[in-house]
Amino acid sequence: MHQKHKLTILAVVAHPDDTEFGIAGSVARWTAEGHTVIYCIVTDGAAGSNEPSIDPQTLVETRRAEQVAAAAVTGVHDVRFLGYPDGALQPTLELRRAITRLIREVRPDRVVCQDPTTYFFGHNYINHPDHRAVGEATIYAVFPSAETRYIFPELLAEGLEPHKVSELYLDLTLHPDTYVDISDTIDRKLTAVGCHRSQVGPDAITMVREWAAEAGARSGFAFAEAFRVLRLVEQ
Ligand SMILES: [Zn+2]
Repeated sequence: MHQKHKLTILAVVAHPDDTEFGIAGSVARWTAEGHTVIYCIVTDGAAGSNEPSIDPQTLVETRRAEQVAAAAVTGVHDVRFLGYPDGALQPTLELRRAITRLIREVRPDRVVCQDPTTYFFGHNYINHPDHRAVGEATIYAVFPSAETRYIFPELLAEGLEPHKVSELYLDLTLHPDTYVDISDTIDRKLTAVGCHRSQVGPDAITMVREWAAEAGARSGFAFAEAFRVLRLVEQ
């Protein structure tokens, strides 16, 4: 029997829970198909509550545990936390280097991140600046930093050779061109969303289900997740 090529997929997002809201249905499908998915959560999630009685450091630990549990629901058992301050992220060279380091270490075929060109959703929602910052740092880590030997030469000294990423999947995008059918994995996605107990209640789970149904209606599936996909060619 023909053995399909198994991919390594790296998803880089701003906050603990972004993978669940955005891509967990696709991730559950990919891991079920035998691909390996790794999560990188860039911020610490400390700003995830406006409740004065909640200690931010306790919240960081709670959200880490929630993220690890949510990832496991969709077959992800390798979650990296970079620990940057939540809500104050900038697409600095330092962040780009940190993501480049990770790309060169795990050597993904596909990178998934948040579309940095999204400022607004419709007429009532401003995209979180951390999402844009992570997206910008990640796309430029993918190209040119990860594949170019003498960008961040200090990484060579760590034994991290250049790596070419083949595909870039952008979520939170206003320009979707690819829909992943998550009809078989919507229940796992919603279970994963529900793991973020400090962040979500039943209303959020209903909302996520509606988003997936809307994306499905646009693409001929019961439930879907939308991406803008770039297939990166050799220079
Ligand atoms: Zn977020």
